[in-house]
Amino acid sequence: MNELNGGIRFIKGIGEARAKALEKLDIHTLYDLVSYFPRDYEDRSAVKPIADVQDGENCCVKAVVATAPTLARIRKGMELVKFRIADESGAANVTFFNQSYVKRNIARGGVYTFYGRFSRMGLHFELTNPVYEKADGGGVNTGRIVPVYRLTSGISRNVLSNAIEQGLKAADGLLKGVLPDHIERKYGFISSQQAYRAIHFPKDMTEAACARRRLIFEELFTLACALGSMKSRNTERSGTVIPMPETEKFYSSLPFELTGAQKRAVGDILADMSSGRAMNRLVQGDVGSGKTVVAAAAVWAAVRAGYQSAFMAPTELLADQHYNTFTKLLAPFGVKTVLLKGSMTAKQKKEIRELIALGEAELVIGTHALLSENVVFKKLALAITDEQHRFGVRQRTALSEKSDDPHVLVMSATPIPRTLALIIYGDLDVSVIDELPPGRKTTETFAVSEDKRERLNGFIRKTVSEGRQVYVVCPMIEENDDLSLHSAEEHFEQLRDVVFPDLRVALLHGKMRSAEKTDVMRRFAGGEIDILVSTTVIEVGVDVPNAVVMVIENAERFGLSQLHQLRGRVGRGADKSYCFLMRGSRGAESDERLRAMTRLSDGFKLSEEDLRLRGPGDFFGSRQHGMPEMKIASLADSLDVLSAAQDEAQKLLETDPALKKYPELEKRVKKLFEIKLN
Ligand code: ADP
Ligand code: MG
Repeated sequence: MNELNGGIRFIKGIGEARAKALEKLDIHTLYDLVSYFPRDYEDRSAVKPIADVQDGENCCVKAVVATAPTLARIRKGMELVKFRIADESGAANVTFFNQSYVKRNIARGGVYTFYGRFSRMGLHFELTNPVYEKADGGGVNTGRIVPVYRLTSGISRNVLSNAIEQGLKAADGLLKGVLPDHIERKYGFISSQQAYRAIHFPKDMTEAACARRRLIFEELFTLACALGSMKSRNTERSGTVIPMPETEKFYSSLPFELTGAQKRAVGDILADMSSGRAMNRLVQGDVGSGKTVVAAAAVWAAVRAGYQSAFMAPTELLADQHYNTFTKLLAPFGVKTVLLKGSMTAKQKKEIRELIALGEAELVIGTHALLSENVVFKKLALAITDEQHRFGVRQRTALSEKSDDPHVLVMSATPIPRTLALIIYGDLDVSVIDELPPGRKTTETFAVSEDKRERLNGFIRKTVSEGRQVYVVCPMIEENDDLSLHSAEEHFEQLRDVVFPDLRVALLHGKMRSAEKTDVMRRFAGGEIDILVSTTVIEVGVDVPNAVVMVIENAERFGLSQLHQLRGRVGRGADKSYCFLMRGSRGAESDERLRAMTRLSDGFKLSEEDLRLRGPGDFFGSRQHGMPEMKIASLADSLDVLSAAQDEAQKLLETDPALKKYPELEKRVKKLFEIKLN
């Protein structure tokens, strides 16, 4: 008896090496295998008489091998196997390049189904490197619609589809699905078992579409249930009463007048905190909309009432910056603020932890080091997470577990299309800061190619000569990607030594020691650096208003939301800012993205565009939202299903909040948020 969460070594053809290779595709268990969905299909269902085939057509023919295959070596390293095939209507020449084993596999007189692209050469058809199978063997790769999978080295399409075929047989009867019966009936979904088979090996495209529809619904429904049940748990929490303070006292201490949107957000927060129930609120505002001061108002209120607040930022860089900002903002009120980071010495950390435990530290700012077990608060009433999309859903709740039902405030600069906001933030109340501080000008954005490099360098020089500063961002493909680090280093050296030897150029990247990073940022913020070359470590939150030009190298490699975040580092002062998207290569999709950036500055509009280009699955799954990765709901066609899934989840949770009547669903929901803390 096989189990869905058991291994896959029992499958014929999957030995140790291939099992290892499959792990790279995140396939560990039988369930992973059968839910490794194809990203596309190739329609090989048409089987034609040779005479009916058109020049350039891809199709199957069923034919007999009419001549014995011959093997020829035409030059070093190049081998050809050739033979002729025929059916009642006509004949074709078949050639295999560098697959000499075909000579052994194919016998004269055998009948096979061949699939490939036919091209007419004079009187004959030529077929090169076709797929072939014995015609009587119940073809897997010919005569039907064949799935196309994302592959990895060591795993060919054949190996994978054979493994999945066997996996589906082994999982027979186990793939029950998690949709309640009444929902299955209401939408006329095919059964889960059928859907899994049909998504891989559909009889026709209609059946594939039915399978997709069900599986997408199921996936989004599960997600909606997971988030919905978090919300219902949260609304039951009672919270410390923080009496509503006279906000004017705080407002009048600030160097600027708050915008209407900022005041509304502060109002929402103070109302929550004084209500007797625990606050669970998201402040969503575009980059530069001024979320920090809103958080400061909340801290001010909590401290006034005699409680501690914690503020968690995703990077040490940001934690440093926030420490400075909060110290300044709250100085008039004598708030004792401390900083706690992983990179501090054990002794420093111990001292800080003592201040926290004694309640002497009123505001604690830090990275996820705050989550560490030995950080104990005396009377924590407010837990704030900045740039929450950089944390997993689990982590954002982890901070709130530092005390009994503290008020929870999360802040995000990632605008979410309205269609998705409900799902992503289903467990939170939302305040939107939809207004920028006065006097901000939109950052003028240009997509440029290498031929504009000279002019761009001239522009950078002019900017610096006016006393302004410049960011140059190099792509970081993955967090620990040495190659991209190398490119940032090289680019830095080029700028420092060759292009701008007379200017102050510095480098910032994630692999530097924390103290070094802090030092570079401090010098940049203090105007001691003219040009800061960096990887995407500056993506979130960094605030240096005197920096007015940003150059993004290889901009085609970035996603829209990341480009928007990066661009948000400039345009933070009263002066006109510029962003140059340097194109390393062109492509239809990336060109469209860069065009969107030059056209749109509103984060919400950009996020709608992002969603349109990528589909909700990619949108959820990407780092930006801390959501679990979707297996199938990744194409734009999932959008319609989304609101239905959301509705049904909500209805179900109203009748059965703990999903007790739906144990399979409950299990799946729990599994979805098994996100490990690091
Ligand atoms: P974000 O929402 O991206 O976190 P910040 O809180 O870092 O934005 O604010 C961006 C900049 O705008 C900061 O320099 C901050 O001092 C400034 N700022 C915030 N609110 C106002 C306001 N109402 N008027 C003028 N400047 C403001
Ligand atoms: Mg911020």
